[in-house]
Amino acid sequence: MSILLNADLHCHSVVSDGTLTPEALAARAHANGVALWALTDHDEIGGQHRAAAAAHALGMDYLTGTEISVTFADTTVHIVGLGFDPDNAQLAQGLAATRGGRSERAQEMAQQLAHVGIRGAFEGALRYAGNPELVSRTHFARFLVETGVCHDTSEVFRRFLTEGNPGYVPHRWATLGNAVRWIREAGGMAVIAHPARYRFTANEEYALFSEFKQHGGQGVEVVTGSHTPSEYPVYAAMAQEFGMAASRGSDFHSPNESHTDLGALPDLPGQLTPVWELLSDRILRAPRTTAG
Ligand code: AMP
Ligand code: MN
Ligand code: MN
Ligand code: MN
Repeated sequence: MSILLNADLHCHSVVSDGTLTPEALAARAHANGVALWALTDHDEIGGQHRAAAAAHALGMDYLTGTEISVTFADTTVHIVGLGFDPDNAQLAQGLAATRGGRSERAQEMAQQLAHVGIRGAFEGALRYAGNPELVSRTHFARFLVETGVCHDTSEVFRRFLTEGNPGYVPHRWATLGNAVRWIREAGGMAVIAHPARYRFTANEEYALFSEFKQHGGQGVEVVTGSHTPSEYPVYAAMAQEFGMAASRGSDFHSPNESHTDLGALPDLPGQLTPVWELLSDRILRAPRTTAG
């Protein structure tokens, strides 16, 4: 498969912190020219069968996906899994354990917000959560916009919910080794999500990439809606240095919040190996319609 394929291998539905259903995302991806799609909900694979069925009904190829929250060097890092068996029990259990602490964390976040005069944030966030096991900071952000505390979700993350600000509750997610192992043992490929987003020193970033590789991780997102265009060549070079495949995905969450739409990304730089080349056996191909 060509590196020029319009693949979008990172986005979120109501099963995590997106605002569209898997079906509506499939329709939007297809309308935007996506030929290979993956839904990658945070710490969840509950939307995978729906997403694959919706993709196939539109003639679009599909890769299973998820985005696992990991704690590495005291920082939250996201690891995308692609092409795994969506019925693998170990992966499902690992993700359920990773989701486990979210409700308690959300209650603590709401308590902190109450201290600065914002009441009812737990119930408010929960109203936005399509999946009660997956209350995320994004749902709090939507509540703070709805109640007029902030103008948009970017302002929320500048003033609240982030380190040093009210509503920030540190959390221990999965380990890097476990996340990569769950994905690999379910037959999939692990990919470092949006590496430019972590505020790592050069040494910490090097440690992330090398430990990820030692655990069997194989890919890195290069062209993503969570990177600026000037960051693409930086991580293209990292992919080459570490002998890793490159991925491409919008990280689309919502028509109102996301600046990068599904499928609306530049192509991967030409010298890279796209993840979909290594995953060609794992792609769930749309049934071919026979003419006549
Ligand atoms: P959580 O998993 O609950 O910590 O929430 C993380 C989610 O918050 C991410 O997946 C993003 O969707 C969202 N997020 C984090 N930082 C920002 C930001 N600066 N602007 C907008 N959304 C953000
Ligand atoms: Mn998110
Ligand atoms: Mn992420
Ligand atoms: Mn994401």
